[in-house]
Amino acid sequence: MDFIERFREAVKIPTWWPAGAQKGEAAAEAPLVRFQEFLVTAYPAFHKTAERWVLSPYSVIYHWPGSGGGSDSPVLFLAHYDVVPAETEKWSVDPFGAEVKDGFVYGRGTLDMKATLISLMEGAEKLCTMNFKPTRDIWFAFGGDEERAGPIGAVQNAKWLAAKNLRFDWLLDEGTPIGVNQIKGVDSPLALVSIEEKGYLSLALTAVQKPGHASRPPKVQAAAVLAKALCRIAKKPFPFELIPSVERFFRRIGPLSGGIQGFAMRHARLLGPLFFAAAASSPTTIAMLRTTVAMTQLKGSAADNVMPSEVKAVINLRLLPSWTIERAIAFIKKVINDDRVTVSIHGTASEPTRANPAYRGTGQHGSDQPGWKDLAAALESAWPGTIMTPFLMVATTDSRHYKEITGSIFRFNPYKLGPDDMSGIHGHDERISEENLIKGLQFYTKLLESM
Ligand SMILES: [Zn+2]
Repeated sequence: MDFIERFREAVKIPTWWPAGAQKGEAAAEAPLVRFQEFLVTAYPAFHKTAERWVLSPYSVIYHWPGSGGGSDSPVLFLAHYDVVPAETEKWSVDPFGAEVKDGFVYGRGTLDMKATLISLMEGAEKLCTMNFKPTRDIWFAFGGDEERAGPIGAVQNAKWLAAKNLRFDWLLDEGTPIGVNQIKGVDSPLALVSIEEKGYLSLALTAVQKPGHASRPPKVQAAAVLAKALCRIAKKPFPFELIPSVERFFRRIGPLSGGIQGFAMRHARLLGPLFFAAAASSPTTIAMLRTTVAMTQLKGSAADNVMPSEVKAVINLRLLPSWTIERAIAFIKKVINDDRVTVSIHGTASEPTRANPAYRGTGQHGSDQPGWKDLAAALESAWPGTIMTPFLMVATTDSRHYKEITGSIFRFNPYKLGPDDMSGIHGHDERISEENLIKGLQFYTKLLESM
């Protein structure tokens, strides 16, 4: 069996979580356990060399000991083996059939993110078969519940590693890809390596009133109070800001873009409001420049003729790394400016992750953050001539649970993806090209080999 065949076997294991199932339910956890066991049989040489700990169906850790020749501290690679469910009827192929068609492997989790996990294992297996020994210690920490909010796996892994007093030089997790045609006016593919990550915060906004019959409504209704608050939020967005990773991104791509647009990108800070006005033309760039607010849920009473005792809206914020949860709540309360609306945290929130101040703003085109050069060398070997630039992760990754045990976090996928490929992630007909699979394997193998 070759790499693509083993990858297809991995995709066929349906590691999604059935709606409503509880943790601890054997039937729901079985595919996760099956996946853990699949790795053992598929990669015998690596399993002979590395130590393995299974902490739960949601967590497996590997330690590949180095020769100890170097003084460098260990490095950590993260991945998750769970996937989101698939609406089978909307797919043109079986989401768990791993069908090969027109140069692509189709299946749920191909991009997000079994390709990475399997490539790490493939690279390690190949190197072990060749009796290669890394200089420094390499660790893998894999989670089985990244796609559900409030994961056990990553939290458990991070705690376990911290309890062993391990400190990592850097870590690599899933993240932004090699973007193709994603920035207007920039033709060359860009390896977007996210060195910062936005925070996650949902807020419940509630207004109450006496419940009663809809035939005798009160003069001031809770829904109107809440609606007014939402309108104020819509009218007063968070301010634009140029944070370090984003400033460096624009400085890096400015010369590629040319003309007035390129000039504006290179001098974003100097131009200030002029730059923001021009750049804020698409939701993608806006997400890089401010804390965003998405109005996601609204709830009134259960029947059309019953006055609700409370009306509730949920808004989902993604915080720029220069913000904190506390400051963002204060901002929203001030904008609403109405005591009749209570604001409270809904679900689990997480603070943004900033780039380490020690490495911020250095290096005109890259970063002197530990690991940056290793990633650049691996990228050059797989995708020669590709430009690599610091970037901001606007979604959340498992890596946020690991910030206590390393000062240098990268979120990156070594796959060339255009807007069409991106739509398959959490969507329909998710797929990865065989070219991306081969190049990605080259990237991770080279990276492991350089440790
Ligand atoms: Zn993922």
